[in-house]
Amino acid sequence: MQENTTSNLQPQYLVLARRYRPQTFADVLGHDAVVTTLKHALRLQKTSQAYLFAGPRGTGKTTLARLFAKALNCTCLKSESEPCNACSSCQEITESRSLDVQEIDGASHRGIDNIRAITEGAAYAPTSSRFKIYIIDEAHMLTKEAWNALLKTLEEPPPSVKFFFATTEPHKIPSTILSRCQRFTLRRISHSLIVTKLQKISHDVGLAIDETTLLRLADYADGALRDAESLFDQLLTFSNGSITEGVLEEVLGIAPFDWLLELDRAIDTADVATAYKISDRVFYEGKDIGHFIEDLCDHFKTMLLLKLSIPLPTACPDERKKELLKITENISQEHLIETLALLAEAQKTMNSAASERFLLEWLLISIVRIKRKVPLALIVKKLFELQEKLPQASHIEEPKPSQALPEATKEPVAAVPEELICQVERKETIVPRTPHEEECRQENLIRFAAVELGATLSKKK
Ligand SMILES: [Zn+2]
Repeated sequence: MQENTTSNLQPQYLVLARRYRPQTFADVLGHDAVVTTLKHALRLQKTSQAYLFAGPRGTGKTTLARLFAKALNCTCLKSESEPCNACSSCQEITESRSLDVQEIDGASHRGIDNIRAITEGAAYAPTSSRFKIYIIDEAHMLTKEAWNALLKTLEEPPPSVKFFFATTEPHKIPSTILSRCQRFTLRRISHSLIVTKLQKISHDVGLAIDETTLLRLADYADGALRDAESLFDQLLTFSNGSITEGVLEEVLGIAPFDWLLELDRAIDTADVATAYKISDRVFYEGKDIGHFIEDLCDHFKTMLLLKLSIPLPTACPDERKKELLKITENISQEHLIETLALLAEAQKTMNSAASERFLLEWLLISIVRIKRKVPLALIVKKLFELQEKLPQASHIEEPKPSQALPEATKEPVAAVPEELICQVERKETIVPRTPHEEECRQENLIRFAAVELGATLSKKK
């Protein structure tokens, strides 16, 4: 149902997120378990004095709190515990002018005085409804003192008073408060549900937009329906009747999917020049570098899942899936995992990087050269194969810290400095190794062993 908000003075544009805000439990998307629990509580008249709605932004925390408040105060609750949306209480809540259901922004009313005003008000009976309900949004922003001031009222509230808290960061709420609340954790909304909702809206407003574009939009919104609706609003302003994927990319500053495919092709030939060109385009066309790296993560993760025949967590158009499957034929599972490791590292260093542009260039170059890198697993496999070929059982021993490296190692190990091996070994006796040191050590040992085996084999000949 659409929110009925009109002004007598002048017609105002109502953003889609408000226009299509659910007004009944049936309209709520993706939170079936929470809705069922709330409806049961209403039907059995077993409601708690405080509720906490936790979850990522834009997933409907305050919408659910408002709906529940509406149902609690509705004078002619319909079957299935749905609010009627016609009685004066329902209408007042819909139009945000109810004296008994107050919404408070915890971010700007976070102090002890703000909470005292609430607790003093809670002492009075509701003006016209059954319950006096305080919905505190961004509740994690309240100060410690403010929570302490609220604790007493929360412990033994007047029977007609209820508190609903909404937060994206429940871990910041004191445990003394959490233990007095019934808690609901809202999940991100699935891409397919977001697409269904946006399809309905585009039908209502007469906008032509295909499913691939909507999926891309849902992906960008990252499970936040409100974000998806806001972005859709932005597209509506831009469009004149239809929206293509290209328009979406232009409006939102997303890199085209073709660029990712171009990078995939460059991996095949280790084409560093293409890596530079893509990086340049991202930079000069003003695309968000952080978001581009996220796109790359999704892209390579999708390919890995397809390669492993694992169902994709998010919807992907069939045509695109076919295209990606074809690419995965030429890139191994190990290489995909290594690429994801590179991307994860880039995301980690992004904030501290002196130049985001250089970080991106280096990342793309490393990605296109990934096939040139021999995976460690392959080296180990080859070593075992070599070992099998030896006439007598010969095993690889780790060099002792004091033991000098054999002559044979000096030349071929030029890329892995001898002193590094010794350094790693020396550290062993002093401090525990970091994961990076351990990795270096193992790699060095494998190289060392490879040279040893090579030398042994040539002696046997
Ligand atoms: Zn009603």
